[in-house]
Amino acid sequence: MRIDIITIFPEFFDALDISLIGKAKQRGLIDVHVHDLRTYTYDRHRTVDDTPYGGGAGMVMKPEPWGEALSEVLRDSDAVHEQDTALSQVEAGAEPDATCAPLLLVPSPAGTVFRQPVAHEWAEEKHIVFACGRYEGIDERVIEWARERFRVVPFSLGDYVLNGGEVATMAVIEAVVRLVPGMVGNPESLVEESHSVAGDALLEYPVYTKPAVWEGREAPAVLLSGDHGKVARARRDWQLERTSQRRPDLIENLRTARLSKHDVAT
Ligand code: SAM
Repeated sequence: MRIDIITIFPEFFDALDISLIGKAKQRGLIDVHVHDLRTYTYDRHRTVDDTPYGGGAGMVMKPEPWGEALSEVLRDSDAVHEQDTALSQVEAGAEPDATCAPLLLVPSPAGTVFRQPVAHEWAEEKHIVFACGRYEGIDERVIEWARERFRVVPFSLGDYVLNGGEVATMAVIEAVVRLVPGMVGNPESLVEESHSVAGDALLEYPVYTKPAVWEGREAPAVLLSGDHGKVARARRDWQLERTSQRRPDLIENLRTARLSKHDVAT
C-alpha cells in the first residue's frame, strides 16, 4: 500500500518510523511519502492561507498549493499509468474508475465519522492520500477539483474539533495499516477485540496477566481454572456487561442487526 500525506507539519509523521507501522515500512508492506505543502508556495513567507471570502474569523487554506501538491502526488504515484486511464475517463465525462483512482482522505470535523468497518475497507486500498487541513480548512474548490481525479472521502475522527488533520491522519493510518494482511502476527487477535467486524462489534472483555495477585487484587479465578468453556462464558458475560454500561448503542445495533437478519431468513 502506498500512502501520501500532504501537510504543513511533515515532522508530525516522524512517529511513523516507530512500533508496528515502522516495521511495516521496513518490511515494505507500506510505502509512505510525506509532502510539505509549503514546497508549493512561491512567496517569501511561503503562505498557505488567506482571509475568508464573505468575512468571518480565522483563515482558509489557499487552493493553489493544494492543486500543485495533489497533482504531483498523482504524477509520482506508482499507479501513474492507471491514473492516466482515470483522467481520460474524466475527460470523457465519466467518474474516475473506482478500481484505479487513488483514495483521497480529507480529515474534517464535517466528515463522516471513521469506524472499524471502514478501516477494513481502506486496508484493501493500493494508494491512499491524506490532505491535512489547518486553520478553518481547505478552500472547497480543491475538494471539487479533486473529485475529478481521486475518490474523495471527507472523514471525521469524532464529534470534536482538532487544530489540524495530522492527528486524525495518524489515527486512521494506525487503524488501517494494522489490518493490512501480514501486519499482525496472529490474525485471531483482530477477531477478539473491540468493534471487531468478524465478531459482533461489541467491546472487548477486561484482560489480565501475571502476577495472580497484585496490590491485594486477585485476577478472576475462572481465568486460572484451565476450563476453556468456562473462560469463554465468563468473557462473554463481561463483554456484554461492559458494553451495556459504556456503549448501550452497540447492544442496540447488534439487536437490530440480528432482527433484520431474522427478517431476511424468514
Ligand atoms: N472550521 C472547521 C469546521 O468547523 O468544520 C474546523 C477546522 S479545524 C480547526 C482545522 C482542521 O483540523 C480541519 O481542516 C481538519 O483537517 C482537522 N480536524 C479538526 N477536527 C477534526 C476531526 N474531528 N476529525 C478530523 N479532522 C479534524
